[in-house]
Amino acid sequence: MVVDQMILHRVKRTLRKVNKWQPIMRAMSDEELQGQTAKLRQQLKAGKTLDQILPEAFATIREADYRLLGLFPYDVQVMGAIVLHSGNIAEMKTGEGKTLTATMPLYLNALEGKGAMLVTPNGYLAERDEEQLEPVYNWLGLTATIAFPKEGEEKKKVTPAEKRDWYNHDIIYTTASSLAFDYLFNNLASSTADQYLRPYNYVIIDEVDDVLLDEATSPFVVSSVPMLQSNLYGLTENFVSMLVPKMDYRLKREDKAVYLTYHGVRKAERFFRVANLFDASSREIYRHIALAMRAHHFMRNGREYLVENGKVILLDETNGRLKHGVKVNTGLHQAVEAKEHVKLTPNQKVAASITFPGLFGLFNKIAGMSGTVKVNENEFMNVYKMRVVQIPTNKPVIRTDYPDQVYITTTEKLMRAINYALQLHKQGRPILLVAGSVENSEIISEILLNYGVPHNVLNAFNAAREAAMIKDAGQEGAVTVATNMAGRGTDIKLGPGVKEKGGLAVIGTEMLSPRVRLQLAGRAGRQGDPGSSRFFISLEDNFISQNSTKRFKQYYRRLARRYPDRDRPLHSPRLMVSLAMLRSRVAGNEEASRKRVNKDEVALRLQRKNFYRERHQIMAADHFENTIGYWISESIDYYLAQKQEWTVHDLGLLINEHFSYDVAEIPPAVVTSKARIKRYLEELSRQILTAKSATLVNNEQLNHFYRSSLLNAIDSCWMDEMELLTNLRIEVQPWAMAGRDPSFEYQQRSFAAYKKMLLRAKLRALDNLLLSTIKVNKKGELVVSFN
Ligand code: ADP
Ligand code: MG
Repeated sequence: MVVDQMILHRVKRTLRKVNKWQPIMRAMSDEELQGQTAKLRQQLKAGKTLDQILPEAFATIREADYRLLGLFPYDVQVMGAIVLHSGNIAEMKTGEGKTLTATMPLYLNALEGKGAMLVTPNGYLAERDEEQLEPVYNWLGLTATIAFPKEGEEKKKVTPAEKRDWYNHDIIYTTASSLAFDYLFNNLASSTADQYLRPYNYVIIDEVDDVLLDEATSPFVVSSVPMLQSNLYGLTENFVSMLVPKMDYRLKREDKAVYLTYHGVRKAERFFRVANLFDASSREIYRHIALAMRAHHFMRNGREYLVENGKVILLDETNGRLKHGVKVNTGLHQAVEAKEHVKLTPNQKVAASITFPGLFGLFNKIAGMSGTVKVNENEFMNVYKMRVVQIPTNKPVIRTDYPDQVYITTTEKLMRAINYALQLHKQGRPILLVAGSVENSEIISEILLNYGVPHNVLNAFNAAREAAMIKDAGQEGAVTVATNMAGRGTDIKLGPGVKEKGGLAVIGTEMLSPRVRLQLAGRAGRQGDPGSSRFFISLEDNFISQNSTKRFKQYYRRLARRYPDRDRPLHSPRLMVSLAMLRSRVAGNEEASRKRVNKDEVALRLQRKNFYRERHQIMAADHFENTIGYWISESIDYYLAQKQEWTVHDLGLLINEHFSYDVAEIPPAVVTSKARIKRYLEELSRQILTAKSATLVNNEQLNHFYRSSLLNAIDSCWMDEMELLTNLRIEVQPWAMAGRDPSFEYQQRSFAAYKKMLLRAKLRALDNLLLSTIKVNKKGELVVSFN
């Protein structure tokens, strides 16, 4: 609290400095104001810091915002901008104008010429904001763009040159997922010509809780060449269907954990005919059982996934949207398919993966903004070292937030919520009815139709259409049914006459986390408007049934029996306390799971950084002789260490396997010592490479051959490594039951695996260099085939 006051005090002091510049800016001609950019850059060159030029720079773009858009950023917006520049999080309520706020720190940070980015949760918002603001940046002499294909052009293939052009703009509006994919593909490029990113500098994340909390645990994945399909899915599916609850497995819904009992383990060993399920050789079987059990107990048809035309489509739990891309843990999808007895999609190898926290960790400075982040303040501090600063609203908030109304069953809850909505609808107030799932949004819509109430339903799976619909949600008499996150980032403005009637009414119909609840309530009462929020919840709500303890369930059953009059909301103080405790326990669990993923990600981040650095060196090199000589020597050492004594026969086999398919006569004297064998093999390698280079016409082709041999080797080993790490995450889970820390196990083992991978890459490179065939085709192009 005291710290917050001190920060706010400092922010206000800087605000006063910005305000001092304002009359000077106002007095400038357009040309003079436009000349400010060059002048500020000059000051930076002369050694001033960004902090020092902040007041003048903010005042410059504030005035430009006013002249070009007719919008003059309020003092509170300047305060938000100061927080954003400092690399922290500004909590600003919905409708306070975060888009305009961001222009100030973006402009200031772009002056250095290293780029500044704004990341939004979806492409629609990025396009909208960039379109509105590009004229201001251009007017001040800076370039701005979105960094993904425009709406309607998504299918078009974007060349690296185009991407490079995007990323070289001063100011970039993009989405977290485009950024993640671009990062991964940039690092999979096979030559520097295919790369397009420059080092990440400054980023502001809009709706930061959505990106860094809600989406934190699902990694972005780029997959590659189909692997051999495991036939274990069908087999484990049969096995898991036979299991008897309690006896063969235990289910801990609260922890989302399911595991085999001793009895279940024995059963598995008999079923799969293995001696020890926990032996390294049974690892794959164990992993498949774990996946199949997860598919059975935590993946529900209609909630977590849908089956459509013989295909399993995963749904995003919070908003009912179809999951985009391949953001799925490898294997779970197939396990669900086996459960539903549909055709399995080919399992793909992970070529690269990153989580949002990992991605944003690559920036020099990150900032964030959102309407509801204070509740997760500690987590932001611990994980990202970012402070959350609450910015006062421009006008006082006069919205009324009514206490929750608790009912026993879903039906009662929905009926009461709809009755309440009808009552307000009669008064002409616009209504936003929020459903907990796609299914409920359809039920609500049907009931409304029965009452003859026209309304919009927002589960369109399309951000642009949602935005268009939600824009009208503030008109007199409008009724809008929406799932949780639908239309987030689009502000609901009140139509004429609505203020007098009491403003927008947000009616929730599901128990939610405090943060999401606040986010929804905040859609009403923006910029000092009147408005209200009320949530109707039931003891059958997902949030409660999934997370409550046995004791709570017993208590709730007794309560249900004792309450014959089900139309009245429950109001036992004990219940309210239990619900509050439940909420905080869930929040704690979620935070813990993000923490674990982040910890695992740290291990991966180190590996990724290391790997990408080595890979880049190879890609950018134009001399390979040293690296190749060194790798060959190391590989030979490795092979020689496999045996104490070498015979001519052994050596012949080794050469046949890794050096050359036609083994020449090996002089017996060679095998008298390892040093001799090594010299012999090195000489042999040199001869093979020289013979190969004779087919190549120039140095460039030779380099191309070397480069692709090495890249192919390290990439395929890295893919194996990523797969190993993904599987490892699942494998280490049972360690928790043995009282050990899974994260620690994960880190230990992943580190060991990385070292092994580097060696494997070298061995593989040796094979590629020596055993590959190269041809120059009729067009004069080099064709290399690896085995
Ligand atoms: P938020 O992202 O904080 O919810 P938006 O950036 O979407 O809010 O802005 C909400 C609305 O307020 C927009 O229509 C915007 O044009 C308007 N607005 C923002 N700042 C100002 C300002 N300083 N003066 C007038 N209108 C503003
Ligand atoms: Mg916004």
